[in-house]
Amino acid sequence: MRLLRFLLDLLYPPKCPFCGRVLERGEEGWCASCQEELPWVEPGDTRAVDFCDACLSPLWYRGGAREGMHRYKFGGGRGHAELFGLLMAQCLQDRWEESADLITWTPLHPKRRRERGYDQAELLARRVGELTGLTVESTLEKVRATAVQSEISEEEARKANVKDAYRALPGLDLAGKRIILIDDVVTTGATLSECAAALRQAGAASVAGLAFARAR
Ligand SMILES: [Zn+2]
Repeated sequence: MRLLRFLLDLLYPPKCPFCGRVLERGEEGWCASCQEELPWVEPGDTRAVDFCDACLSPLWYRGGAREGMHRYKFGGGRGHAELFGLLMAQCLQDRWEESADLITWTPLHPKRRRERGYDQAELLARRVGELTGLTVESTLEKVRATAVQSEISEEEARKANVKDAYRALPGLDLAGKRIILIDDVVTTGATLSECAAALRQAGAASVAGLAFARAR
């Protein structure tokens, strides 16, 4: 296995998921300068999102965090979920004192998922589940294709864009469940709040949002 690892590293030198630089000897997972310079969210700095009890994220959506997310979503860097999910799991453990019953995510529309080959929020949810031991469950579906949120600047227009775009899977009973809802990036919070509303309609007792990064 060691030899295989060595050969793989030669062929595909591991790169920092944030800045894309080839990692130096002794750097594990991500580079030293990104570890220093990433825009971390201060503990206790939370924001309100409708239908959510909290909206947590380890990073602000700028600089290296933004670059890393672009690589993850558009550069085929699905392996980045490993590190990004780890940062999210740490954030959850440090900043969320309530207990939780399950982890779920804001799903892509099936068409978009087919195009990308993976659902970036799902991979993050699965990684957070793996690290926290919480059950990960698919609970929502996107029933209407929407315009890409990041291409809409108006907050009201973003809300309208995702209005009623999500619903809980038919027959799902979430009565009394305390849920961690995963998304990749939270900008206006419109997607998160639509999904949280659908979960509450299916009986969820609480919903806490957890994203990799959020915009100010
Ligand atoms: Zn870096």
